[in-house]
Amino acid sequence: MSDISRWEELFLQGRLDELSAAAMDLTRTHFGDSVFLRGLLEYSNHCSSNCLYCGIRRDNSRVERYRLDDRMIYAAVDSGFSRGLRTFVLQGGEDPEFGTDRMCRIVREIKKRTGGMAAVTLSCGILSREDYAALKSAGADRYLLRFETSDPELHRNLRDGVSLERRLKALDDLRNLGFQTGSGFMVGLPGEDDELVLRNIRLARELELDMIGIGPFIPHPQTPLAESPQVPLEKTLLATAMLRITCPKAHIPATTAAGSLEPDGRERMLRCGANVLMPNISPVEVKPHYMLYPGKICLDEDGLHCIGCLAGRVALVGRKLDFDRADGRVIHERAGAKESASV
Ligand code: SAH
Ligand code: SF4
Repeated sequence: MSDISRWEELFLQGRLDELSAAAMDLTRTHFGDSVFLRGLLEYSNHCSSNCLYCGIRRDNSRVERYRLDDRMIYAAVDSGFSRGLRTFVLQGGEDPEFGTDRMCRIVREIKKRTGGMAAVTLSCGILSREDYAALKSAGADRYLLRFETSDPELHRNLRDGVSLERRLKALDDLRNLGFQTGSGFMVGLPGEDDELVLRNIRLARELELDMIGIGPFIPHPQTPLAESPQVPLEKTLLATAMLRITCPKAHIPATTAAGSLEPDGRERMLRCGANVLMPNISPVEVKPHYMLYPGKICLDEDGLHCIGCLAGRVALVGRKLDFDRADGRVIHERAGAKESASV
């Protein structure tokens, strides 16, 4: 039995203690006590897509829609930068008003204002290879695009007809263009069993990702999946530990969805191998409208307050905040391997 299938066996048996102990050994080996920060900026909740699971899907007419103007984006970046953040994640719905030219301008301006010291991560959904290439040339460093589920049929059903193949092609484009690439999945989508979670973990490993974002699926009452059952956080914790064991060098955030499902959800993910936190630095007045799932936490706090709160939370689990921009490690190894193969 291979090493990985032994861990998979423990996953299927729900043996969280053994899995998290092994995951924490690896986390300490590769990242010490550090928990890295990414400032999350939710620039628009308009979306032309209609994913069945998502609270800001196109057909949810009860959402109060907003777009940040460029000035508000820069103000949030400036205050995050002055507080020490060195990565900014710009996330939004698939919003045609934020076309590639505008996004390129925003990326260039963030790079300029931060003296090139901050990494820019984009999470704007599926775009053409040409668009991704333009964003890379403008200075974007990283891209987050979860594959959501590795089951092609479930993917097509939940993503309103968009195929898994298309999503994976986008990830391939991003990687080939030199982005530090992040992907991941939700845990507990309707129709998912433990074997499928394992297939998701295997796919994340095959993709050689720099960042792997997972979180519990939380049914949103204004979506077609409103009546789906809530899967307990434990499944996400087991998957987190498995990801650390199988992809030891990837950055794995303790996600807000976990903290929204259980008050100590993020701390529990940190104890299972997560090594990143993403304080939400969006303006307080728009936060309640970026409701991908219900019960989202930290809606009243500004991002700078969140950093103080997170420092206390990581200390409770014996770790410390690290303000390094913490680039992806996998991409560099891949580049190194290519170089040594060509000598
Ligand atoms: N539009 C972009 C980015 C915004 S959505 C995109 O789709 O890639 C960011 C992530 O939120 C999604 O990848 C999905 O995994 C997560 N998400 C959406 N609805 C959710 C829900 N109901 N519960 C938990 N996570 C959800
Ligand atoms: Fe739009 Fe992303 Fe939500 Fe899908 S998950 S509806 S693409 S914001």
